[in-house]
Amino acid sequence: MKVSIYNTLTEKIEELIPLEDNLLKVYSCGPTVYDHAHIGNLRYFVFVDILMRTLKNAGYTVYQVMNITDIDDKVIKRSFELNIPFRELSRKYEKLFFEDLKKLKCKIPDKTPRATEEIPTMVKIIESLLKKGIAYKKNGSIYYDISKFKDYGKLSKIDKEQLKAGARVDVDSYDKENPRDFALWKAVKENEPSFDTSVGIGRPGWHIECSAISYKYLGEHFDIHTGGIDLIFPHHENEIAQSEVFCGHKTVNYWVHSEHLFVDGRKMSKSLGNFYTLRSLEEKGYSIDAIRYLFLSAHFKTQLNFTFKSLKNAENTVNNINDFVNRILDAKDGDIDITSQVKKYEEKFFEFLYNNIDITKSLSYMFEIINLANNKGIDNLSKNSLEVIIASFKSFNEIIDVITFESTEIPKKIKELAEKRWQLRKEKNFESADKLRVEIKTKGFVIEDKKDSYIIRKDH
Ligand SMILES: [Zn+2]
Repeated sequence: MKVSIYNTLTEKIEELIPLEDNLLKVYSCGPTVYDHAHIGNLRYFVFVDILMRTLKNAGYTVYQVMNITDIDDKVIKRSFELNIPFRELSRKYEKLFFEDLKKLKCKIPDKTPRATEEIPTMVKIIESLLKKGIAYKKNGSIYYDISKFKDYGKLSKIDKEQLKAGARVDVDSYDKENPRDFALWKAVKENEPSFDTSVGIGRPGWHIECSAISYKYLGEHFDIHTGGIDLIFPHHENEIAQSEVFCGHKTVNYWVHSEHLFVDGRKMSKSLGNFYTLRSLEEKGYSIDAIRYLFLSAHFKTQLNFTFKSLKNAENTVNNINDFVNRILDAKDGDIDITSQVKKYEEKFFEFLYNNIDITKSLSYMFEIINLANNKGIDNLSKNSLEVIIASFKSFNEIIDVITFESTEIPKKIKELAEKRWQLRKEKNFESADKLRVEIKTKGFVIEDKKDSYIIRKDH
């Protein structure tokens, strides 16, 4: 099946045509490992996961590389603040990052190289840029002369009038209003980590890292490059400038960027107190599947406004989908046949998914199946219809991955424990009751207390 996607470079939705047979080579900008990933970062990684799953589902072979930024301004600043070596800091947060990805059911890329282990390739590119006269040395650092690259600004569409030739910037992040010569290599500073190389003693700038890693693992020309929208400038603009001069031609065919996440309509920041990590949401008792569903259910080109209400809604939706699937698994068969409608809706699900990952539309067809089956009465559906519904939901789950295919039957042992807990609560022995709740949860079930009763449900 053909897949099309919005390309930031051409500002168009384009059909993906691999450079090589059926193989799509994908480079995804990875995390800077200096702190816990926040939910804005995680939305991007869930999007990347959905994109990868979609491409594989459509029949492509996908080879994905994602860098780990374990040295840059932020890593160094934080290692100074905490007074721990930068490697210790970055290893710790790298481990936590992969834990977050696994919890969110994001597939781990084929290769995840660390910046600090790829210095020779960065040096090779910097040497070539110096030789080509597009890079220059200044006080032990090496800068990229953006005035010498005629295509500078083609991705971010910056106004070239703004270019200040000769003005330099040493920090890795700066805004679009100030396009300047950026650092490829930063001269060693007191106490900062450094590498002794043929271009001097120092450390690489952030942007050269992605040019080097993508070149080493994917070659001079690859298919897709992903990132959050905030990386378009300066990071990806600079990457294009470096890679295209080094290789002598275009290096990436499709640039794919996912939109921002806001919290209660505002930018997330520690000072506003609206800064959330996966851990902090877990501690508040939200299920990770609900978080995954909330992120994946918004189109990647729309801003996602995170609220606790939307998270609660996502949790209800995930529960409802699972309840539906469980009821289908337990249904008695009747004689109403809806197989052709179900198959049509399944086709629509994938048709919209392959069209610029229009997940919102895709999901609406999944709900059409739920509505149709419920309207007909699940126990009235033919055996064939029930089987086709399960097959469809299994194919949807290849993408969304929040469904557990188990019947709703609650084991007798769980029912007994729940009843015992209810009695303890009535006796106001809350401590023992809570212990039982935990025991039941470890067995994969959760109890929801109502006014005068309780319900047991599977823990999704
Ligand atoms: Zn990058």
